[in-house]
Amino acid sequence: MTLHLAVLGSGNAVPTATRGCPGLLLRGGGEALLLDPGPGSLAAAARLGVGPGAVTGVLITHLHLDHHLDLAALLFALHDPRFRGRPPLRVRGPRGLLRVYGLWREAYGKWVEPAGYTLDIEEAGPGPRELGALRLEACEVPHGSTPALGWRIREGGEGPVLAYSGDTGEGPGAAACGREADLFVLECTLPEGEAPLKHLTAAAAGRVAASARCRRLLLVHFSARVDGTPILEAVRAAYGGPVVLATDGYETGV
Ligand SMILES: [Zn+2]
Ligand SMILES: [Zn+2]
Repeated sequence: MTLHLAVLGSGNAVPTATRGCPGLLLRGGGEALLLDPGPGSLAAAARLGVGPGAVTGVLITHLHLDHHLDLAALLFALHDPRFRGRPPLRVRGPRGLLRVYGLWREAYGKWVEPAGYTLDIEEAGPGPRELGALRLEACEVPHGSTPALGWRIREGGEGPVLAYSGDTGEGPGAAACGREADLFVLECTLPEGEAPLKHLTAAAAGRVAASARCRRLLLVHFSARVDGTPILEAVRAAYGGPVVLATDGYETGV
């Protein structure tokens, strides 16, 4: 086991008393990455011992606010003089990321610009890339008209694979993102009966996981409408592997 995952927020755009907005923390290969730092992620990571100064990279799936707003909070926090000379902060995200960052600079000026460290921010197309010792692969997933990526991450060429869908509808892109992953973190937003076009129902998540043939499934991004419904039963109609319904603070090896 070389990668360690923590769920910072297991909810969707509407935080509740028990579920924060999306956010994952991945540690391994000398990195501490925030995946989709939605509102509240920065504080949740700090509670796990990874404060702003320890974050080495940020991966973003798409530019809905619940999946990236704490990147602005991180850039602001890193203005504290104690972080001068820290290692570079690498940020990778979908098409549109540089425009959003440009608008933040226009609005917030120097407060979101790096002071005494390097900010390496790039839009990622689909395909493989490296981040330190980690191998990344961005996969396009269907999320309406919003450009959206899933991420696959492994340490070196042989380590176990973590796949994270971000927000996705049911379709070949979602299954391709999770193909034979050791751990597939997949969204589960909609109650049964709704069309899984931009988001997934539990039954659709089960079908995506079965088609991906992932080894383990971790469901996240629960809305208040799906919470309390028979999620596990719906997933198991199609997927027979181990399934965990994430809670805030859930941690696991990959
Ligand atoms: Zn979302
Ligand atoms: Zn979204």
